[in-house]
Amino acid sequence: MEKQCARCGHVMHLYLRKLVYMNHTQIEHVPIYRCCYCEHHELVEQVKEDLKQCLQRLHTSKEERAISFAEHSAFTRMMLKNRTSGKPFTVDEWLDLYLLVKSLGDTRWLRQIVKALQRRQTEKCEESFTID
Ligand SMILES: [Zn+2]
Repeated sequence: MEKQCARCGHVMHLYLRKLVYMNHTQIEHVPIYRCCYCEHHELVEQVKEDLKQCLQRLHTSKEERAISFAEHSAFTRMMLKNRTSGKPFTVDEWLDLYLLVKSLGDTRWLRQIVKALQRRQTEKCEESFTID
């Protein structure tokens, strides 16, 4: 499955990514389109409703855990056959996630992402100021 990148017009491919929800829950296997040229990410339209419902359920439980989005989405179960592994998020990816979550209207999660982004930026500054 492919689609055209809204940002640069290149081809976007489908990936399964790990999202960290509210710093305590890892949601594995979330289908995302990723542009091979400009790294733009987009949540797959078909799973938006599934993810919303999944997040609503997570709101009610506070314990730390990891879930697979495949439990909540038939589309994702289908996709798992072509899985690619997730890496830790870069700042760009956090920004993409921010846009993604914004489109879902989850303001609590948005605040968490902003905090994570600020943390990343602080770490970066400290790195660049370390001189021996
Ligand atoms: Zn692009």
